[in-house]
Amino acid sequence: MEIEKNKVMLTGDRPTGALHLGHYVGSLLSRVEMQSKFDSYIMVADAQALTDNFSTPEKVRANVYEVVKDYIAVGIDPKKATIFVQSQVQELAELTFYYLNLVTISRLERNPTVKSELQQKEFGQSIPAGFLCYPVSQAADITAFKAEIIPVGEDQLPLIETCNEIVRKFNRIYRAEILLEAKASLSREARLIGIDGKQKASKSLGNAIMLCDEEDVVKEKVFSMFTDPNHIHVNDPGNVEVNVVFTYLDAFHDDRDEIDTLKQKYRKGGLGDKVIKSLLNDTLQKILFPIRERRKSITKNQIDEILIAGTEKSRAVAAVTLSQVKGVMGLSYW
Ligand code: ATP
Ligand code: MG
Repeated sequence: MEIEKNKVMLTGDRPTGALHLGHYVGSLLSRVEMQSKFDSYIMVADAQALTDNFSTPEKVRANVYEVVKDYIAVGIDPKKATIFVQSQVQELAELTFYYLNLVTISRLERNPTVKSELQQKEFGQSIPAGFLCYPVSQAADITAFKAEIIPVGEDQLPLIETCNEIVRKFNRIYRAEILLEAKASLSREARLIGIDGKQKASKSLGNAIMLCDEEDVVKEKVFSMFTDPNHIHVNDPGNVEVNVVFTYLDAFHDDRDEIDTLKQKYRKGGLGDKVIKSLLNDTLQKILFPIRERRKSITKNQIDEILIAGTEKSRAVAAVTLSQVKGVMGLSYW
């Protein structure tokens, strides 16, 4: 990867819970790599988290700290990447307000990410307008920083598309080239499945191994993973593809050949789920141990300092974009 310090990278997480292994392979690892190559911003999206957690603001607030602890624990360096809190950069809310005119309700309802989240969350007839419109606020987040590189999981691709539709429409209507189109950058594991084998690992679904899970919890989760239901006896031939343990071994174990040999044996029959679960448990414990230890050594004061500095810098950048946007919209009067 080339070093392009003049290009901006922006990513973020909703503080709805601590981060999990899906984030680790889906976004955190690539952020650690990218932080030295691009002008990097990482946003803790507390305002976005409130769109579907508006009645539990204390949960969102507490998780801002959990998420930042995870960042530092996996090696995100606040000297290289600017970490900030979304709600503290008011300019983003103002930009959202103007962008809301550039997208239709039906377009938002048809966004595949929003659509599947609406189903999951079972809002029924009571969809909060803020939730339906969160892709617009995401467009504000991205464009405020003129970010072009957005490392995300697969589930977020339609959101980048909505952002770019807004950018194109804005630049066309206001005859400006102020806003830049963004490009999603998918990591090697764009969608890690949950331990239930049903949906992607997610904080909200409770089907993920968290980076802060203690050793015994990790073990318990590994041993409760969804495996091939037709593989009843050790000697039965097994299906590797539906077996979540293999999916995780593929994602986290670094010896390809060893995994391939195990897969062959599992397909033929003669390999028990306990054996592969033990191997996965050892693999994950090795990865998670240093992260957990580092996480425990980070204080709240340290996090506050990181966030205050990052937020201040971010506000200055977002304020420039906002003033350009208002300028071409004819909203600067005096
Ligand atoms: P929530 O359930 O609250 O939506 P989440 O687990 O989906 O939480 P987000 O904060 O929505 O996490 O996502 C942050 C980033 O991590 C996004 O870029 C998303 O694509 C990525 N991500 C989330 N879950 C996974 C996963 N299972 N595999 C790969 N990437 C993921
Ligand atoms: Mg999500």
